[in-house]
Amino acid sequence: MTIRAVRGVHDILPGEGEKWRRVERIARDVFDSYGYEEIRLPIFERTELFARTIGEATDIVQKEMYTFEDAGGRSLTLRPEGTAPVCRAYLEHGMHKLAQPVKLWYLSSFFRYERAQAGRYRQFWQIGAEAIGSDDPAVDAETIVLLADLLDAVGARDVRLRISSLGSPEARAAYRAELQAHLREHRAELSSDVRERIDLNPLRAFDADDPGTREVMAGAPRLLDRLSDEDAEHFAEVRALLDRAGVAYEVDSTLVRGLDYYTRTVFEFESAALGAQSGVGGGGRYDGLVEALGGPPAPGCGWAAGIERILLASDDAGGAVSGPPTSTPPVDLFVAFTDLTRRADAFGLTAEARRAGLGAQMELAGRSLKGQLKQADRVGARFVAILSVAGAALKDMESGEQRDVDRVAVLREVLRGRGAA
Ligand code: ATP
Ligand code: MG
Repeated sequence: MTIRAVRGVHDILPGEGEKWRRVERIARDVFDSYGYEEIRLPIFERTELFARTIGEATDIVQKEMYTFEDAGGRSLTLRPEGTAPVCRAYLEHGMHKLAQPVKLWYLSSFFRYERAQAGRYRQFWQIGAEAIGSDDPAVDAETIVLLADLLDAVGARDVRLRISSLGSPEARAAYRAELQAHLREHRAELSSDVRERIDLNPLRAFDADDPGTREVMAGAPRLLDRLSDEDAEHFAEVRALLDRAGVAYEVDSTLVRGLDYYTRTVFEFESAALGAQSGVGGGGRYDGLVEALGGPPAPGCGWAAGIERILLASDDAGGAVSGPPTSTPPVDLFVAFTDLTRRADAFGLTAEARRAGLGAQMELAGRSLKGQLKQADRVGARFVAILSVAGAALKDMESGEQRDVDRVAVLREVLRGRGAA
């Protein structure tokens, strides 16, 4: 029996690499221009980090985490998301002492035990941004515009932005009780799933699909109408700044997020080009997160976007990612040899060529000379050096011309020929 990859993961094969590199390159450029710095963090953390911040009652913590005990008896978890680890690092490395906000980005893979389907994996990739240390509404607006710019630059199609505000934890707690009362009043009309979560996580009822629950939710009180003056003012400023930047959005009072740490602004980008899994990226403000980890007050805001979904949303009908294709690096020289005694010399010449800044490859599979020339053609080599017992020859693959050259002059000839091209 052959061993196959586990369910819900996917391989990124060489032919797809360019699409991924392109997104990564665009992300890097956009982050640079917005003054964000990259952060790379461990793939696993203490389980407690996620349990305490994401929330015990959330789907992620209740059923989606890859949690294991290491040989030292510690409970560890493969990161299901990036915000809590970034806040952990921010605190651990004293970044609250730097000029605020500290703006960080990451590109890494994450792990959630979810139902595998198109656009939903158990190991998936996210690009994420976090701006920590300021509650200025301009931070919220800037992070949102950044993601809008990024999605635009990669060519994601039919993107729609929804925003809302969850207010402060106090307002949310009061609202939660109000919503629970509404749900209990309509208990019979709710799906069993939602009914079971009235106590634990009533806000998730807004995400339910079944008609009965949707009907009940249509008449439910909205958190957006229960914000404190201060939070409402903050949200109004975020909207004004988005307007000023020309970023279109819809205010959606039913928008809830699957993680407990969010406060005030929340948002989600969706693409109509995607099927059921339409979320491309989302995030929001998390003003209490660093404090919950034992740190000083350090309000933050950020988002994460799924790279698989970005690629799906930006695929043309033909499957190619829109935008200018980037050329594969040139192969200036292919080193062929007609006799095994020349292999070491070929190896040396190839190494020398690379050190001289040339794109160089050599024969690696024992082909006949004819096969080697075919291979050189396949990789798009500009010149082929043919090393034989008699000496060396250089073939110009553009003109087809081949001539004998002094072995010690091969590299010089290629460099000159390349310069002339
Ligand atoms: P969804 O509603 O699709 O489950 P989510 O609210 O759980 O998304 P977040 O935790 O906010 O998602 O993660 C941000 C982004 O990461 C999502 O918008 C999506 O693009 C991507 N994402 C989340 N979970 C997965 C997954 N299992 N497979 C692929 N991409 C994912
Ligand atoms: Mg999810």
